This record gives sequence, C-alpha cells and structure tokens, in this order.
Amino acid sequence: MREYDVIVIGGGLGGLTTAAMLSKEGLGVLVVEQHSVIGGCLQSFSRAGRTLDTGMHYVGSLDNGEIMHQYFKYLGVIDSLKLRKLDENGFDHFHFSDGTTYCHAMGYERFAETLAAHFPEELGNIESLCRTIERVGNLISPAILREGKISNGGAEYMATSAYGEIGRHIRSEKLQRIFAANSGLYAGDRLTTSLYEYGMITHSNIKGAYAFVDGSQQLADLLVEQIVANGGEVQLGAKVAKINLNGAKAEHITIESGEQIAAKWVISSLHPAVTFSLLENNTVYKKAFFSRMNSMPNTYGIFTTYLLLKPQSIKYINKNNYLFNNDDVWSATGNYKGHNIASTLLCMQPNSSSEYTDVVTLLTPMPHAVYEQWNNTRFADRGVGYKEWKESFSEAVIDFACSFYPELRGAIERVYTASPLTYRDYTAAPLGCAYGVVKDCRNPLVTLLPAKTRIENMLITGQSLNIHGCLGTTVSSAVTCSEILGTEYLAKKIGNA
Ligand SMILES: Cc1cc2nc3c(=O)[nH]c(=O)nc-3n(C[C@H](O)[C@H](O)[C@H](O)COP(=O)(O)OP(=O)(O)OC[C@H]3O[C@@H](n4cnc5c(N)ncnc54)[C@H](O)[C@@H]3O)c2cc1C
Repeated sequence: MREYDVIVIGGGLGGLTTAAMLSKEGLGVLVVEQHSVIGGCLQSFSRAGRTLDTGMHYVGSLDNGEIMHQYFKYLGVIDSLKLRKLDENGFDHFHFSDGTTYCHAMGYERFAETLAAHFPEELGNIESLCRTIERVGNLISPAILREGKISNGGAEYMATSAYGEIGRHIRSEKLQRIFAANSGLYAGDRLTTSLYEYGMITHSNIKGAYAFVDGSQQLADLLVEQIVANGGEVQLGAKVAKINLNGAKAEHITIESGEQIAAKWVISSLHPAVTFSLLENNTVYKKAFFSRMNSMPNTYGIFTTYLLLKPQSIKYINKNNYLFNNDDVWSATGNYKGHNIASTLLCMQPNSSSEYTDVVTLLTPMPHAVYEQWNNTRFADRGVGYKEWKESFSEAVIDFACSFYPELRGAIERVYTASPLTYRDYTAAPLGCAYGVVKDCRNPLVTLLPAKTRIENMLITGQSLNIHGCLGTTVSSAVTCSEILGTEYLAKKIGNA
C-alpha cells in the first residue's frame, strides 16, 4: 500500500492550497481528485475555441501588500498569475430596475466619495460603515500573519447581521441596498449573512479586485506545479469511495478503483456532508451527527449562461455588472417573464490576445426549489422537460441581460449553460450549492465548522469551513494546515514570505 504523510481529498482551490502549503513545509502530500482535470470551481473548459470558467471570476485583496497577494506570494504563484485589475473607479456596477446605476470603487476614500456623490448627506455614515468593514477585513491582514496569527478573532462579527449593521449606519434605504448589492458574491440573505462574511468579501474587493486573464484554470495549474516542485503528487481520476477508520483513526482511503492508500493525516476538502458520508467502520460519530451534517442549510445554486460572441463584436468592459430585476438585493427570488430571476451578474473575461471579449458569462442565483424536481437525475440523463426548462430559462436570462445591454443580442454566436445540478454532478456539492454551507449569524456556533474532527488524524477544509471564495477558502486552508504545522509557525511563514 502506498503511504504518504498527508492525503488531501479533492483538487479544488481548498485541496490545492492545503497541499501546496503542507508540501512547501516539507510534508509528503498526495492530492486525489475524482476528475481528469484539476481545479473544481477553478476549472476552465473549452467550447468552440473559447475558454469558459466554471466558477471563479474575480478575486479581491490582490494589490501588493494585501492579504490574498501575500498568500499567493507565499504559495509561489503570484508572479506567474495573469491578472487584470478591474476599474479602480468602479469595479462592480449595480444597475437597478428604475434605470439608476451605482458602483463600488477601490480604495476606501474613493469608495466613500463615489457613493457620497449621490448621497452627500450620508458622507459621515458612509465613512463610519467603511471603517467597520475595514476593521472586519483587517482581522486577516498580513500584519496579523506576521504577529503569528491567521486571524485576529472576529466572533462578534460572525454573530452580527450584515443587513442590520448596514441599516445601523446608513439612513437611505437605497444606499443600504447599494452597500449590499454585491450579495451575489456571498449568497446574501437578510436573516443569515453575517457582518464577518459581508465585511471580509467587501473589504477584499475594495482592496484590489482582479480578474483572471485567459481563465481561472491557471491558478489550479500553478498550484499543481508548486505541489509537484515541493515533492508532492496529484492523482487525477481518483474518486475517493471511502475513508477507512480503525477506531478513532483514519487508517487509509479507498479510491473507486479499489486501491487503498495510507497516510498519517487525511484532509478532506469536500463538502462536510459528503466528507462524513465517506467514513467506513465509523464508531466515533453518532447518528445525530450525520443528521446534523445532512441538514445544515446550503447556499443557493447558480445558473450560468455562457454567451459565446461573434468575433470582435463587443469590447471588453473592465468591470462587473450586477443587473437587478428585484431591487431587494437580499433576495434570490424574483419573477421575470415567468422565471425566477432576481438578479444576474454579467462578467466579461479578459483575454490576452484582444481588446474584444469572446465570452460573456451571466450568473443567476437559483434557489433549490426552482430545480428540485430534477434532483434525482444525473448529468446527460435528466429528460426532455429539464432540457426544455434549461433552454427557456437561459433565454429569459439573456432577454433580461439584453434589457440592460441591447447590443448583446446581435453579438451572440452560441449559448452554453450550466445549472446548479451540473455543478452538483461535477463538484459533488449537495444540491449544487454555490458556496457550501450557509453560515448563519443567528447561530454561528452551529454552522461554523472547525478544521479538527473527532477522528484524531483527520481534518477538513474547503469553502464550507470559514468563508468561501478565493480568499475564504485559502485562509481556511491555512487554518487547517496550522493544525499540523502550528499556527504561529505557519502564520509567520506566510506573513514574511
Ligand atoms: C458559479 C460560481 C461563481 C463563483 N465566483 C467566484 C468569484 O468570482 N470569486 C471568488 O472568490 N469565488 C467565487 N466562487 C466561489 C469559489 O469558486 C469557491 O468558493 C471555491 O473555488 C471552492 O473551492 P473548494 O476547493 O472548497 O471546492 P471545489 O472547487 O468544489 O472543489 C472540490 C473538488 O473535490 C472534488 N471531489 C468531489 N468529490 C470527490 C471525491 N469523492 N473524490 C475525489 N475528489 C472529489 C471535485 O471534483 C472538486 O475538484 C464562485 C463559485 C461558483 C459556483
């Protein structure tokens, strides 16, 4: 039986950053990924000669000296990433149904000035909310890492509602909505979204939001290069069927081919409900624990519509556009011509060869109830009704997007779509949830999962742990790795890289 120091299950961002950290610190690591292509939600794929991204579209805190930049520097990938900084004067534009448009700008001063230009009487309130957001974001700054901590606490922000906090500072309801209009990035929900999650994500984009040039696959590939250069291994086409326990220890894993592989540590980056369903010979956890894992609420899915454009038809726009049907930015429910469209995020992918874009991606939040009737179907075998629904839904999304950008219609050459069920069957995330488990500010202790499990040599990581996204998932990897390497040691290594 092959044996490693660490087996990391899953080759998405969580698995890869975990493996890159541990291998960099001298451990013998194997990543096992079920698919033949690495990356999970980082994966790019090709259709009709264009590069389409599965998930990751833009990443914050990438300015030199900011936290994501620091992590990528430590991981050895920052200099090789092809990135484009989004428009500093307005990286996220929000288009409301009443015809008004507002934006979030980079840098707190510019961010506040831009909003105060529309709401001058709120300048002081805008600045005080900005200070709060900055305080939250700075809980994980490079300076904190250099102090030997991955995070400087934040429990009080995890138990504070983002919606409530915005309302506490800002008087105008419209301006409250503008502050939270990036809610598609965290599946924002009026009741559950914490100030911690909102603040981390909003702060990170104010501190330097960048898009991947030519696709996000490059990040996965660069991390694999680092893992291999550090002496680690990545095994593709290796779906983990079981984590075999002996008492309170994970003895080995079994992959679908039947091969068993042993390790001193097993780390799973899969959704927690999936991870714990893999346990074999479990004597550690009681039934109630599995019920709890399986009943933890998951974030909504995202229906992705890829518009492949005619050559040189639309110039690349260096910003993201959030199109709102329902101006309740905290809701994923809306009605557009009989379909559930509350909002759509329109992203263009920069490419290195042209000032034109060849792909426009429309990301539409989709509550589980919209597609639950097809829950029991599998990829390529979901029946005619599903195909018809998918086509008609994507047509409605395109129609909705064209109501804001009429020039899009004539530029479309072909359309590809991915429903949340496509994501579910690809990443194994239950219900195709976009961002893993919902972290609920009303009861943070129940939904915030520790990296440590009751199996003494098994840890978990991935987007369900702390917060999701490029930043949240990478920080979670550091938290998980610190269980093996020690927090002070690892934090200082990252902070001083
Ligand atoms: C549509 C969409 C848009 C997004 N946009 C952004 C964005 O713009 N910016 C941002 O920061 N974040 C974004 N995110 C979130 C971000 O992509 C995720 O938080 C992050 O990539 C999650 O990484 P992960 O490793 O936890 O999970 P995943 O990427 O899901 O990786 C899990 C991996 O495990 C593998 N796996 C599953 N089961 C097994 C098994 N049994 N054996 C072996 N391997 C297995 C899967 O194949 C997959 O590769 C987006 C997400 C979605 C869905």
